[in-house]
Amino acid sequence: MNTKTIIETINRNHLYPNKKLGQNFLCNDGILKRIVEVSDVNKNDNILEIGPGLGDLTAMLAEKAGRVTAVEIDAGLSAFLNEKFYNYKNIKLIHADFLKADLNDIFTKSIANLPYYCSSEILFHLAIKYKIKQIFVMLQKEMSERILSRPGTKNYGAMTVALGLHYESRTLFNIDRKSFHPQPDVSSSFIYLKRKEDNELNGQEETIFQNIVKAAFWGRRKTLKKCLMDSPHSDYKKELILNVFSKLNLDENIRGENLSIREFKEIARSISKQI
Ligand code: SAM
Repeated sequence: MNTKTIIETINRNHLYPNKKLGQNFLCNDGILKRIVEVSDVNKNDNILEIGPGLGDLTAMLAEKAGRVTAVEIDAGLSAFLNEKFYNYKNIKLIHADFLKADLNDIFTKSIANLPYYCSSEILFHLAIKYKIKQIFVMLQKEMSERILSRPGTKNYGAMTVALGLHYESRTLFNIDRKSFHPQPDVSSSFIYLKRKEDNELNGQEETIFQNIVKAAFWGRRKTLKKCLMDSPHSDYKKELILNVFSKLNLDENIRGENLSIREFKEIARSISKQI
């Protein structure tokens, strides 16, 4: 739909966009086609879409995919979608908060224009709870920069490292604010996250990894050593931390923002061996 049709649809159905729910609808058919194309949707796909909104992307996905499950939090939009997709056999609509839902299914891909107010929580759900192999999402450009940044840069943080343990990511394209109605205050990027076959950590090491990453970025200006000793996310004894630093030959003054994912993994393994 273009902006005019979207506004008509909204008015006719009394679906006035709720800013708090991140309702910025895509009103550029070219972008919608591009999303479906770059995501390489095919009949083997069981796709999970979060926040179908007015259902334009959902309809395009359903044309190419085997199945689409779309989870929408808004009651008005859900009722509208139920009517719109009444005759579609391969679309399953779920009226729920995705963050609270328990979807008992295995999805090949997740493709979505995410609500920006909770996009990081949604991404972690997709990564940790559902272990989705391929994620194609529209995000606030700033957040995509955080996911894709390198050690030592200002955007490098807990999100970069925690998602980077599981996924290789890249930007597919950027989208102008004018492609949405209402227009958001920020620019957007469409990015791809491809799950790594193996993150090379066992269960205990992975838990430690998540804790030390949270700890390392808890005090950005503090050294890693201080963070690991003082942060509420890390309750390892001082001697253990000192031992890890000495075993791995880590610089006393190094900060979390300068460590690569590989180095975080080494620290996690070393801690795991000593507890
Ligand atoms: N897919 C549509 C499009 O591209 O035009 C709408 C995208 S809009 C950016 C985000 C959508 O996510 C809205 O429809 C909003 O109601 C929905 N939403 C917000 N929070 C949600 C949540 N926690 N669970 C499920 N849907 C949510």
